[in-house]
Amino acid sequence: MDKRVRHLKGGHLGDIDLTSQDKVNWKQSVCPWNEDEGVDTHKCAVKYTSICDYFCGIKYLDTILCSYPHANIDVLTGDEIDRPMKKCLSCGRHIDAEAIICGHCNMRT
Ligand code: SF4
Ligand SMILES: [Zn+2]
Repeated sequence: MDKRVRHLKGGHLGDIDLTSQDKVNWKQSVCPWNEDEGVDTHKCAVKYTSICDYFCGIKYLDTILCSYPHANIDVLTGDEIDRPMKKCLSCGRHIDAEAIICGHCNMRT
């Protein structure tokens, strides 16, 4: 895997994020994007769907792979991506090549 992909410990699976530093009794890494912006709003995935353009998946058992600040699509190659992707013409984010409506901006692609 590309060296730009960080390995971040202690994420929640299901909703995947690193936003519970004070609320969990295991050691959790800090999301580098939240850290840069001084917020705790960015999440890797919600309801088992990847929503962050830096999210590169999970390494077993529960380590988040994160390519921030490089778009995951620029870092991952070949079989590290599970399906063909295309760029949304409205918002520019990468989406499933089969998608008709963009999941990010809700526009037709
Ligand atoms: S994938 Fe996104 S939300 Fe998750 S740790 Fe990286 S930048 Fe933060
Ligand atoms: Zn879009």
